[in-house]
Parts: sequence; C-alpha cells; structure tokens
Amino acid sequence: MPDNNPFKIAQQQLDEAAAILGLDPATHALLREPMRELTVTIPLRMDDGSVRVYRGYRIQYNDARGPCKGGLRWHPDETIDTVKALAAWMTWKTAVVDIPLGGGKGGVTCNPKELSPSEQERLARGYIRAVWKILGEHTDVPAPDVYTNPQIMAWMMDEYSTIRGHMVPGMITGKPLELGGSEGRNDATARGGIYTVREAAKVLGIELKGARAAIQGYGNAGQFAHKLAAEMLGLKVVAVSDSRGGVYNDDGLDFEVTLQHKLETGSVIELPDSSPLTNAELLELEVDVLFPSALENVITAENAGNIRAKIVAELANGPTTPEADVILHDNGVYVIPDFLCNAGGVTVSYFEQVQNAYNFYWPLAEVHERLDYKMTAAFHAVHRMAKAKEVHNRLAAYLVAVERVAEAAKLRGWV
Ligand code: GLU
Repeated sequence: MPDNNPFKIAQQQLDEAAAILGLDPATHALLREPMRELTVTIPLRMDDGSVRVYRGYRIQYNDARGPCKGGLRWHPDETIDTVKALAAWMTWKTAVVDIPLGGGKGGVTCNPKELSPSEQERLARGYIRAVWKILGEHTDVPAPDVYTNPQIMAWMMDEYSTIRGHMVPGMITGKPLELGGSEGRNDATARGGIYTVREAAKVLGIELKGARAAIQGYGNAGQFAHKLAAEMLGLKVVAVSDSRGGVYNDDGLDFEVTLQHKLETGSVIELPDSSPLTNAELLELEVDVLFPSALENVITAENAGNIRAKIVAELANGPTTPEADVILHDNGVYVIPDFLCNAGGVTVSYFEQVQNAYNFYWPLAEVHERLDYKMTAAFHAVHRMAKAKEVHNRLAAYLVAVERVAEAAKLRGWV
C-alpha cells in the first residue's frame, strides 16, 4: 500500500527532480523541509457561551525568492503534514509562474460548516492573534484556500491591522474589493487553469469547442471552472460533483442553474434534469477534459488506469499520487500539474499585493491580460522541459521550479 501522506508525496516528487537536476546534497536537504513551522492552540468562545479549542498552523516553507505566500485552509482533516505539503507546493507554484515570492501555507483543523458566522469571525481573529508575529506584507502573506473566503480574509486583515495600529491591506490577499482586494481574484484560480487548458489543447491539436468536460469539486475553483470552461473554451460540462456526490447530463449542465441549486441546497446533488453519479464514477467518465478541483489523492494507483480524459487539469492541490502519475503518463493522458494549473490564484494574489503596495488599482482587463501572460509562459516552460527531458509534466514542472528556487538560495549564499 503506497503511503499517501501528502508531505511524503511532496518530498518524493522533489527527490525525483533533485536526482535529474543533479542538485547538491545541501540544497536538496534545504528544499526537503520547511524553514519554519508554527503550531498554535486557539480557544474559541462559541455562541452558547462554551469554549472549544482548535489547532492552527502556519508553515513557512521557503522564502529564498521572496516573502512566503499561500492560503489558509479550514478543514476537519487538516494536519500539520497536509499543511507542510501544501506549503512545499506553494514554493514550487510561485517559482513556476516566476513571481517574486516564496511558499507558505496555514490552516485550522475545524469544520467551518458547523460554525456560525460570528464563531467563524472569532476563529479568524483568534488565529491571527496566535500567528500574527510571523506574518506581514514583507514576510508571509496568507490567502483563501479550501473553506475560507474573502470575508474571513477581511476579519483577519482587520485583526492584524488593529494589532499593528494601522491598516495593513498587503498582509493578506483574496480580500473583498472594498478592502483592497484585486479585480479578478475571485475567479483567478479557475481562469489561470483555463488558460493552461487552452494552451494544452493547442499543443495537442485538440478542438475544445463542443468537447466534454467533468469537474470534481464545486468550491471556488470548481464553480468558476464550470462557468469559464463553457464561456471561454466552449466546453460542454457534462458532470460536476461535491463532497456529497455528483450529477450528470449528457447534454451538458447549465452553470447558472447548477450554481443556484448548490447555493440553495448546499450541494449539487439532486439537481433537476440530471442523473446521479459518485465522485469515483465522475473521475472515470469519457471526457476530453477532467478538472479535479477538490482535495488530495483522488487519482491513485487504483483508478488511474481507468481515467479516460485526454487532459487532466488539476485545479486542486495534490489530487494525483506519484504512482498514478506514471500510469497516466504511460496511457497518454496529458496532465497539467496542480502547481502549474492552479497557479492563477496566487498570481492574482501577487497582483493584489502589488496594487496594495502602490495603493493604486488596476482595471479587470489588465489583471486578465497579465494573468494570461504569466500562465501561458509558465505552461510553455513546463511543456518544453517535458519534451527536452522526456519526463511527465509534473516532473517537468518540478524541474523548472526547483531549479529557480535552488538558484535563488545559492545566490543568497545559503548553500
Ligand atoms: N490557496 C491558493 C493556492 O493554493 C491561493 C494562494 C494565494 O493566493 O496565496 O494556490
């Protein structure tokens, strides 16, 4: 049974890249572990007056190329190892799109669906009071991730600003527009992924107009992937799912109707004019593009052989295990690896920081144009590397990213 601990997987992926790059042992050792780990205990006063105690984390994986950057996940299954893996992937993500930032990640082990809005606010503020000393616009800048959102970023920005005594919008990204958020940040993860699918289709000679797509996961990334896959690429989305199950319609699922149903009922299941299917079935559908857009380890050695998509566009972090990568590659499935495919989110977060620093804000068209440029350049750097070294795309993305981080560490005199 392979070990699906995400941090072990992240280290294994790095080890493969290090061997091909001929990385010296000191640099390899440096990049194998986070540079700083913080675990905190957060007491939370519940609405009924009782107190519950939560565990929170912030990992600063590597800041050789710039301040640490990465989201905050609130999830019941969150552990220090998922956060470490996600922080490592952020390091490679910021490097592959070549923005001057490092990698970090944080989270709280909790089920936000069980918390009222006022409890969520107190948890957000409690988290910042616990970790604020290591955060800052020049050191480490959080953002949204699974089950966190712009409102939570706003509370965190307010708490941090209160501690510092003045407003510090650049300490966190993914904020509401009214508080220094960027135009285009809300759909940036999906939009960046769509740009990479467009480029992949070009190099593969696939016609996307009218082609079929399936989306596993219906949070921020999955929802906007549904909208933009149809709008920008003319894809027909035949199936979507969330943690409770999936729905299918061979004629395609309308975005507005599906979103409305999800907002009203809390799930995509039981969508009118659709037939039910499981998450496992969705992944194995005969589609042109499959978007895993939820959590880690959904494409494994067990099901990789049954994946029939031509392109797997990984909007989730870590959806594919190393064993599955090899199987997909051997079967000719074109994988756009997570830290390339979903890098649009952090890229627009970087634009948000730049705008906060200048206190001058860009129109939406400018954000889209700059995002397209970054994603397209990153896609082709990885595609070229995969061809040159005859490796699968994830390994190619590692080669591009790790080389950049290693070079920065070397130039700084660390190794
Ligand atoms: N949580 C997102 C990611 O995994 C965005 C990170 C950010 O914007 O800093 O890439």
